[in-house]
Amino acid sequence: MAPLLDCLIVGGGPAGLTAAIYLARFHLALRIVDAGDSRAALIPLTRNHAGYPGGISGRELLRRMREQAAEFGAEVISGTIERIEWQGSAFSADLGGRALQARTILLATGVVNNRPDLAPSLHDHALARGLIRYCPICDGYEVTDKNVGVLGTHSHGCNEAIFLRMFTKNVTLIAPDSLHDLSPTERERLGGLNVRIVDGPCATLRVEHDAIVVPTPAGNIPFDTLYPALGSRIRSELAIALGARVSPDGCLLVDPHQRTSIPGLYAAGDVSKGLDQISHAMGEAGVAATTIRNDLAENGPLAR
Ligand SMILES: Cc1cc2nc3c(=O)[nH]c(=O)nc-3n(C[C@H](O)[C@H](O)[C@H](O)COP(=O)(O)OP(=O)(O)OC[C@H]3O[C@@H](n4cnc5c(N)ncnc54)[C@H](O)[C@@H]3O)c2cc1C
Repeated sequence: MAPLLDCLIVGGGPAGLTAAIYLARFHLALRIVDAGDSRAALIPLTRNHAGYPGGISGRELLRRMREQAAEFGAEVISGTIERIEWQGSAFSADLGGRALQARTILLATGVVNNRPDLAPSLHDHALARGLIRYCPICDGYEVTDKNVGVLGTHSHGCNEAIFLRMFTKNVTLIAPDSLHDLSPTERERLGGLNVRIVDGPCATLRVEHDAIVVPTPAGNIPFDTLYPALGSRIRSELAIALGARVSPDGCLLVDPHQRTSIPGLYAAGDVSKGLDQISHAMGEAGVAATTIRNDLAENGPLAR
């Protein structure tokens, strides 16, 4: 019979690994299960994450965090948690047919960006070269005074284009699938900032020399960088199946201590409503781990 864990952490990105470091250092029994596709692993070089002058790649950051967690005995199990059930006194999580029992669960499962129409290998090549970027808060600085496209429409595309105007005068908003769906107010705001508005539908993107090319009905438009603003899939389905409350876009709603609406179930990082940033994921995970420790102690002191 598998031991009853104090906490099962689902997801080994910046949030899950931070929580693991805290919980292991509280001498709690934990496991981390990770499916291996952290958004952080896609970051060629993060320059806004404090403490790393010159920047650090997302993969190297994750490697260091795993190493740090392992120093305190927290190791990552590769795999996917497919289902979680409450069984009266503990949760049971299904890891490929194997049941993990835990008194609490921290979901740190992140989100997945919706991608533009581009072969996966070409997408990854463009991402590594900075021809495609996903996070203006993270790397808008790197496109200062460059020729930037935003692939999107509605308020999401509009807001991203306006955000990017603080870095460059040269911003074009392109509708991916059809004509733009923008309100008169949004068109006025974009026009006031000289953001060019181009209707879709767009054909498959291309990389040509140092440019990413967007084929539109108005012609092929080359950019130094393209930001897809196509939304994300929030990986909150395990919690939704348990009945947890989510925002309209599917992010888990948590209290100020990272508790979801399900007792014993906590969330941290991109999967919970907040700023999708490494620092925020780490901060939420520190709060979640300390809350988990304190909530467990409510049922009896944690003493050695
Ligand atoms: C291209 C790009 C550049 C970025 N640049 C920056 C930057 O410069 N600075 C910055 O602060 N942020 C940046 N970000 C955002 C940053 O990557 C995220 O905010 C951060 O990774 C969130 O951490 P997380 O732990 O919440 O989720 P993630 O890092 O996405 O980790 C979630 C983990 O959970 C696992 N998982 C999901 N479901 C399951 C399951 N059922 N069972 C087991 N495991 C599961 C996944 O495999 C994944 O490994 C960038 C993002 C992208 C895409």
